[in-house]
Amino acid sequence: MVDYNDPLINGYFKRLIGENGITLLKTIPEGEHTDEEMYAMLNPIRKKASDLKVQTKLLKDELKAREKKKSSDDEETDETEIPEKTIEEIEEEIQRNEIEINELKEEAEEKEEEIGLNEIRKILFILSENNFTICKRERDTNSGWLTFRWQLNLVDIEHRLEREKRKLYRNLLRRQEYEKENLFYICPSHCVRLTFDESTEMEFMCPLCGDNLIYEENEIIKELLEKRIGEFQTANPSMFRKDERY
Ligand SMILES: [Zn+2]
Repeated sequence: MVDYNDPLINGYFKRLIGENGITLLKTIPEGEHTDEEMYAMLNPIRKKASDLKVQTKLLKDELKAREKKKSSDDEETDETEIPEKTIEEIEEEIQRNEIEINELKEEAEEKEEEIGLNEIRKILFILSENNFTICKRERDTNSGWLTFRWQLNLVDIEHRLEREKRKLYRNLLRRQEYEKENLFYICPSHCVRLTFDESTEMEFMCPLCGDNLIYEENEIIKELLEKRIGEFQTANPSMFRKDERY
């Protein structure tokens, strides 16, 4: 089971597929699902409302058919057929449904951050580009319609994160080196931060606002980087075996 609260895992997926993507990963159970099934799982109240809408539409169609039949029955009555529901009962049911649909819509607005079908498809596409899903295509033999069934596959996540960590650590070291090797000058209005060489080229004037650049003490930044590198090493002892290079 992947721990999406782990800061590294969380950060990785947030960059890849955003907050809604993480919600999708957390919500969708193991196994194969279509994008529409995922929509239903992610938006249960909206799904309930739309199912009820379909059901109400059928009732309305039936009502129309009955009314049409009624007017033609005036000429020739068919007494063999006994309908399950009376017209009044159908009308009542439609009314009740419409009230419930409105209530569900309001509830959804209040409680559900909608993750739409298009967004779900986009998330699935990014996940599959990164080999985090297995996708099966099924063709309906009658209609010829293609159905895509998606399965989340996060077995490789550990290796991925290991690579991410190494990248992060390399960046920290690079940044530390950069801070140690350079002197910095900044614009008082914080337009730019330049190295000594760059500042010389600009004759120590801000290229954006023209103000005079001032020397920046970067001791605090260096200390912070030192601290973060130390924390990283303590948190990931297995990464720091002898002879390992980054
Ligand atoms: Zn400036």
